[in-house]
Amino acid sequence: MLIDSHCHLESFYRKGNLADVLQNAAEAGVGRIVTIGTSVKDWEIYRQLAAQYRSKISYTVGLHPTDVEDDWEEQLDRVPDFFENENPPVGIGEIGLDHFHLPKSPQDAEAVKSRQILVFKKQLELASSMNCPVVVHSRNSFHECVKVIDETDTDWSQIVFHCFADGPEEIRLLNERGGRGSFTGIVTYKNAESIREALLAQDMERLMVETDAPYLAPVPMRGKRNESAYVRHTAEFCARLLSMEAAEFARQTTANAERFFNLP
Ligand SMILES: [Zn+2]
Ligand SMILES: [Zn+2]
Repeated sequence: MLIDSHCHLESFYRKGNLADVLQNAAEAGVGRIVTIGTSVKDWEIYRQLAAQYRSKISYTVGLHPTDVEDDWEEQLDRVPDFFENENPPVGIGEIGLDHFHLPKSPQDAEAVKSRQILVFKKQLELASSMNCPVVVHSRNSFHECVKVIDETDTDWSQIVFHCFADGPEEIRLLNERGGRGSFTGIVTYKNAESIREALLAQDMERLMVETDAPYLAPVPMRGKRNESAYVRHTAEFCARLLSMEAAEFARQTTANAERFFNLP
C-alpha cells in the first residue's frame, strides 16, 4: 500500500470525476490520499470528502502563498473551527513562500513577499498552538522559508517541505533541524539530478512521496494530468534509485506518512 501524501482533489471533485480518481488510486494500491487545502474555496469541500471517504481521504487546511487575499485574517479565524469538527484536518497547509509568481515591479514584488511572510508566520503560530503538522510550499524561496520557520517556535519534526525541489545540502539542512522533504514526480524528470541526490541524502525514516496532482505527473505519464494512482510510478522510481524492493519502499513511506500526519 502507498499513501499519496499531497494532492489537490478539488479539480476532480468539480469536474465530477473524483470517483474514477479514487477507483484508479485503489487499483494502483494507493490506500490513502491527503488532499491539501490552499484557500477557503477548498477547505469545506475537503472536510466533506474526508467525512464521506473516512477510510481513504484525509485533508489539511491552509492559505497557499499565492492564494492570500485581503481578508486573510478573517479567513484564518475559521481554521480552529475545522479542528473542532468531527472530521478534523490532519495538519495546516499548504503554507509558505512563493517567489516564482511575483509581480514584475520590484516595489510590488517586495510588498507581496512581505505579506507572504506575515501570513506564513501567522499560520505557523496557529499550527504550533494546535500542535499539528505543517505542509510547507517553498518555491524559489528555500532559505527564506527556513528563516521564517526558525524565527517562530515551530517544532521542526512537524514540518514537511512538500514537492522538494532543492538539492542534497538543503535536505541535510532540513534533516538537521528535524524536518523533512517529500518528493513528487519531478524526481523522475531528466534534468532533476540534484533532486535525486537530495532523495539519496534524506533519512529513510522521513521519506514521503506525493503527486501534487493534478500537476507534475511523473515519467512515464509526464505531460498528462496527474492523479493519485501515479504516485506508484514515483515510488517505483525512487525505490530503484535507493536499491530497495518496491514493497519495502511502500511499507517505509506509508509508515512515515502515517506517523507524520497521525493518520488512522
Ligand atoms: Zn505546493
Ligand atoms: Zn500542492
